[in-house]
Parts: sequence; C-alpha cells; structure tokens
Amino acid sequence: MNKIIARAEKALHHDLCDHCLGRLFAQVESGTTNKERGRDMRIAVALELAARSEEMPPHETCWLCGDLFEQLPRFAETAASRLSEIEYDTFLIGTKVDPALQDREEQLWSEVGGETAEPIKAELNREIGKLVEARVKKEVDFTSPDVVALVDTRFGNVELNIAPLFIYGRYRKHSREIPQTRWPCRMCRGKGCKRCGGIGKMYQTSVQELIGDPLVRQFEGKDHFFHGMGREDIDARMLGTGRPFVLEIAEPRKRHLDLGEMERLANENGDGLADFSRLRWSDRHEVRQIKAATPDKVYRAEVSVQGKVNKERIDEVVESLNQARITQQTPSRVAHRRANLARERTIRELVLESMEEDKLVLRLTTESGTYVKEFVSGDEGRTVPSLAGLLGVPCQVIALDVIQIIDNVNEG
Ligand SMILES: [Zn+2]
Ligand SMILES: [Zn+2]
Repeated sequence: MNKIIARAEKALHHDLCDHCLGRLFAQVESGTTNKERGRDMRIAVALELAARSEEMPPHETCWLCGDLFEQLPRFAETAASRLSEIEYDTFLIGTKVDPALQDREEQLWSEVGGETAEPIKAELNREIGKLVEARVKKEVDFTSPDVVALVDTRFGNVELNIAPLFIYGRYRKHSREIPQTRWPCRMCRGKGCKRCGGIGKMYQTSVQELIGDPLVRQFEGKDHFFHGMGREDIDARMLGTGRPFVLEIAEPRKRHLDLGEMERLANENGDGLADFSRLRWSDRHEVRQIKAATPDKVYRAEVSVQGKVNKERIDEVVESLNQARITQQTPSRVAHRRANLARERTIRELVLESMEEDKLVLRLTTESGTYVKEFVSGDEGRTVPSLAGLLGVPCQVIALDVIQIIDNVNEG
C-alpha cells in the first residue's frame, strides 16, 4: 500500500475534516488546496478500506479544528469590516489560534509524521487572506503591509495593527527656549506635578510637538516620534536650510493626506518658534540613515571676551585654530548622559566675522560631534586647544546658531 495512503489511513483514526487531512500532505504536491487534497485522500483511503472489506467511519466534527474552516467567511467579513474603518493600500491577515488546537495538531504529527505538513496557522492566514482580498479589493503584502488584521479564531474578533507612517522634512528653530523633542518632567515623568505646573513636561513645547501634534490629529494617529539628524542645544537656533528629520506617526487611521497641506498646518502651528520645509514620504530605513549620519556643521557664535586682547593677537589665534585638531573630554554639562571620553575633532574652518570691544562673531565649520561652546571656553582645560586657552582670557559663547547642516539627503 502506498505510504502516503497508509499515513492518511492512520490519521483518519481521528475524525478529521478535509482541510486538516489535506494539510498533513501540503508539501507532497502543490497546485491544489488542502481541502481538495484532503477530499482525494479520503476517497483513496475509503477505496483501500473497501478492498479489505472494511468501512470508513463517518465524518462528523473535526477532532483537530472543530470545523473551524466553516467559520472562515465570518472571519473574513469581520476583518473586512474592521479594515473599512481605516485608510490603507496593502494588508496582511494574521491569526491567533487556540493553543489546545495547536497541541492536537502536534499530537497528530507525532502519530503519523509531520514532515510534509503545513501548520494550521499558515492555512488560516492564507485562506482568510484570499477571502478578504476579494472583498476589500486591496493587495496582500507579506513584507511591509500598511495594516495587519489579526483574527482571533477563538472569539471571532479582529484587532488591527496599523503600521506607522514616516514623513521626512527639515526644520528651522528660531527660538532659544524650546528643545528639539518632547521632554517629559523629571519629577512626574509626564503625569503632571507641582514642579511642571501640571503639564508633565520640562518645556511648554518642542520642535517635535509643533509639527507632531497637528499632524497626529490629521492622520488620526495615536502618538508621534521624532528622529532628528542630531540636535542642537535648546538655546541654539537652527537656521539656514534647516536640519533633516523624520516624523513617525504611530497607528495612523488616515494615510492619504496631502503633505503640502500638512506642511502648511505645521508652519501655522509653529508660530514663529520653528518652521518646516520639504515634507515628503519616508520610511524606517531612512530613519536609520538619519540617526547614523555624521554631517559637518556650520555655526555662527557670538563670543564674549572677558579681558583685554588686541586685534592682532585674536587674528593670530583664529588663524592657528583654523583646521586644527582638538581633543575634547566629555563636557561637564553632558557628563550625566554621555560616557566620559576624550574625543578628537577637527575644526575645518574658523573665520572671524566681526569684532567690537569685548565681543567677537565667529563662523566655524566643524566635524560632527564637536562641542562648540567648549571649544570656545576651554571647559576648564577639558578641551585643548581652545580659543580661551590660546587667548589667555575667559571666553564664553553668548549666542549660538547652526547656520548649515552639510548633509546629502536626497530631497526628492
Ligand atoms: Zn479540521
Ligand atoms: Zn511634573
């Protein structure tokens, strides 16, 4: 007797439906469904038994799945109805299956061999997917669907896992009083307390919130995350063509909004504190690129010089620091969140733009990761060489602007 039919006969010592019988042999032949394959197997086993004058026991309820496959149209209808609540172009079906049912499937494999079998979840996902595809007329995407409809086959309910949206843009920050990202209150961690005046934050707003709050409302999302290409200090402005970022909108129920209109809304909400440009669609891959980028930056620094130094000496020092290699020990002001290390950085260009009495204006291009304030002040000897160190008098940055990020993002 054919080995496969012998295995099928053994499997049919349990009452199995055509799906569960056929699924045992899913990898024996392709080009047919488990259901059709199961029906053919049942006929072959019945003929085999008849030849031995034995009778096939009647099929009532599937021992393995409890006739779960009869409920597929109902699952598909519920999934399609949940999906109709949101905007999406591609989807995928996932299923939660009763663990007791999966135990029975494994028991059957151990009894008759599972080497050619397909797991029940795979068949459920595929068959529900086909039914839903026909209903909603959207495409199944196995790798990055806009939404996964997760069918709980025990209770028949469907949960949607909506993929986030990613939006690239560049921001400028004109305020010296707001941070780049939302900053929860250190005392209450966002709940609201006396220290933060009940707002749950260290600052009233941030670049992230200025664009994220209005957009998350428009996209009907749950939350937003901000991925910047580095960040400037709170008291530094970000000017020029701005700093690249990707805004992530979590669980958006809308995905087809016009980004030109979104840019307009973000700028309206930015209210002069920050502005936004070049919004376009992005993805998770670009988030990684942006986080890993190490662009050079151009700064303008207003520096107060506390002591008498003549113009010649200043010109000499600026000239000597042009293209200098400097060593920076982690600044004391960031030591609580950065490892204490000595880093070498290059001042690619240093130019004295103007000078009056005790104030200099410097323009400098620096390698990514250079601490400009410390390059000017010397940070009590932690940065060498430094402007203050070479001039021999205390120097302090009193206003800092990033005037260019030298990145090479494709602006599309
Ligand atoms: Zn079954
Ligand atoms: Zn608080």
